This record gives sequence, C-alpha cells and structure tokens, in this order.
Amino acid sequence: MKKLALHWQILIGMALGVIFALIMTNFSWGADFVADWIKPFGTIFINALKLIAVPLILASLIKGVSDLKDISKLSKMGFRTIGTYILTTVIAVSIGLVVVNLVKPGSSISEETRTELVENYGGDAELKRQDAEKQKKAGPLQALVDIVPSNIVGASSSNANMLQVIFFAIFFGIGLILIPEEKSKPVKAFFDGFNEVILKMIDIIMLAAPYGVFALLAALVVEAPSADLFAALGMYALCVIGGLLLMIGVYILLVWVFTKKTPSFFINGISPAQLLAFSTSSSAATLPVTMERVEEHLGVEKEVSSFVLPIGATINMDGTSLYQAVAAVFIAQAFGMELDFATQLGIIATATLASIGSAAVPGAGMVMLVIVLAQAGIPEAGLALIFAIDRPLDMCRTTVNVTGDASVSMLVAKAVGKLREKPLVKNWDDSYKK
Ligand code: ASP
Repeated sequence: MKKLALHWQILIGMALGVIFALIMTNFSWGADFVADWIKPFGTIFINALKLIAVPLILASLIKGVSDLKDISKLSKMGFRTIGTYILTTVIAVSIGLVVVNLVKPGSSISEETRTELVENYGGDAELKRQDAEKQKKAGPLQALVDIVPSNIVGASSSNANMLQVIFFAIFFGIGLILIPEEKSKPVKAFFDGFNEVILKMIDIIMLAAPYGVFALLAALVVEAPSADLFAALGMYALCVIGGLLLMIGVYILLVWVFTKKTPSFFINGISPAQLLAFSTSSSAATLPVTMERVEEHLGVEKEVSSFVLPIGATINMDGTSLYQAVAAVFIAQAFGMELDFATQLGIIATATLASIGSAAVPGAGMVMLVIVLAQAGIPEAGLALIFAIDRPLDMCRTTVNVTGDASVSMLVAKAVGKLREKPLVKNWDDSYKK
C-alpha cells in the first residue's frame, strides 16, 4: 500500500488530537487523563526537536560559512539577509495596522466583556508585564552585549541563547576560512559528517510527528478557556489571522516574482515545517525541519540556508510583528483611545524591534508586546484582554514566522546564485521513507 504523505499524516494527527480532546472533555476525568497520559508525549516530541537545535546550528553554520571561501561573500550575503528580513517585517506590521484600522475590532468589545477579561486574566498578564519590565530595564546596548557569549559551553546550554551560538558559529567559520586549507580540511570534513548525522536524526524524529502533534493539540484543547471568551475576541482574532494570511500571500508573490517558483512548489515544499510551527508555537523547535525542507525541497543551497535560517528563526518574526501591531491598536480601541498617525508610525518601529527581540518560543511575542504598548502609551492592563486567545494566535503567527524565513532564504539564494533549478528531493516525501 502506498504510504500517505507526511503532511497528510500530520494533519490527520492534528485533527484526531482535537477530536479526541473534545470527547475527553465530556468526562470529569478527561482533562486529567490527557494531562497525565497524552501531553507528556507532546512534550517529549518538542524536546526532541529542541535537542537538535544547538548542534544543528553549530554544524551547519560552521560548514556553511566556511564553504563561502571568502569574507566578502559573507558580508554581502549578511547585508542582503538582514535587509530583506527588516523589509518583510515592516511590510507585515503595515499590513497589520491597515487591517486593524479598517475593521476596528476593539470598538465592538462591550464594557462588561472588557471588565470580565481584565478580571480573569489580570494576574497572568501581570507576570508577562514583569518579564517585559526586566527587559526594559537593561541599557540600550544590552541587546548587542547579549550577542557575544563569555562562555560557549554556557551559551549552548540554553536554547534561549541561540543568537550567541550563531555568533560563535559564524566566528568559528570565519576562522576556518582564514587558515591554510590543509589545516581546515579535516575540521570541515568533521562538521560535514556531523551535520549529516543531525539531519538523519531529524528524519527519525519526523517519523513521530503525527503522534507528537496529536498529543500537543489534545493537550491544548483540554486546557483552552471557555468558548464565550473566544467569541468576544473573535473579530480581533480574525484581524490577526486575516493579516497573517495576507502576509503568506506576500511571500508567495515575492517568491514567484523573484525566483519564478510557483506557489504550489513553495507551499508543498514548506508545509511540513508550517504544520510543525503551528503545533509547537516555536520557530526554534521548528528550525531543524525548516532547514531540511528548504535545502532538500525548495532548492536552496546549504551555504545560504545554513546562514539565513538560524538567523531568521531568531530575528525575523513577521507574524509576531503583525500580531503586535494589531493587538496594540485593538487594546487602544477597546479602551476608547484614538491613536494618531505619528503614534501608529511609532508602532511600526517598535513592533519591528520588539519582534526582533522576541525569543523563538511560545508566548514570547506577547511579552514583547508590552514594550510596544508602553511606547505608544496604551494601558498595559490591556494585555489581560487578549490573554485568553493568545495561544491559538501564537500558533498562527509562528507559522508565518517560519514561512517568512523560508521565503527570504529563497530570495537571498536566488540573488547570490545559489538556488538550484531542481530541488534535491523530487518527491517531497522521499527523505522520510528510509
Ligand atoms: N512563538 C513565536 C515563535 O516562536 C514567537 C511569538 O510568541 O510570537 O516564532
């Protein structure tokens, strides 16, 4: 019998997870059962993916940079990458602002709903606010200081330090370019082989993806707040989701125009990574799969993908920035505030920076939203308004974050002549069959 393609398996896993959880919520013991016996498998699956992130970045980025052979190529690609990332983020924020100003979802929130939401979620929102407070206290150059680790073993010990690991890997790769070839050859060969092993490990983990997403979605559904609150926030959620869909359209268009690759080619190639981003709400956890899909199925050569994607996973969060813009204006509307044009321009700047600063983990975008709110003079208590619905929106924005990274890697690859005409794997499920 022909095996079902991986993205279908993952989709079926997700749907069954939701159905299973809905059935379980009918029993008094159902939620506990899911929490005790199903959720841990989802956690194991995410852990296994995260486990791969640091070694993957080290191996592939060191190899990628050292393959570039000269430093000028690296800086050319670096500028192009960062430039394109910032451009797509600004487009995303602007789309968010246009949508939320046209639809005005906050104006329809009634006084009672607002009070109810603030009462229900005020405490949780306060924790996020305190997290953000810590980040705000740091000096203006703290973000720069944080990029350079004082100890690489220490930096590798937490996935939150991904930028530090990236810094080390690029630095190491530059060192490797600058030493004589007979010395660098064995080191490169080592990282080459190391990288192959990691990629094989990702293949193996992906075999468990349908079961992993089943567990993750089942746990999410039983933990979700009541449907009434969702309904109250429906228009806001639709604005975020509508904006995110538009953004996916922008990527498809950019890829189509600049690389001549059709929308179906792009979406088919990247969809397993998108589904995983949706299930895990973490660009960092999805990174290994994003890299594999982009290299093997979208035709981006390793030299480019190994550089562009790890950086993208940490700094390029178009979905997050779009969400932050919509959320900020929504909260302002719900509190009856009018935001003038200058304030909205300010939101473009702060949401772009806040999304760059957001960690690639679940819920990070909401922590950084506090900074956008503070800058625009919007009450931070408003966080409590959107708390109930943040997780599902996090799933959607993470999907866009990952799609954005993939599309920019194709654009950069095309610009530097590193986009293959034909992808390595034709049948896009082949890599998981062995
Ligand atoms: N969860 C998102 C990500 O990993 C970040 C966010 O919370 O917006 O890309």
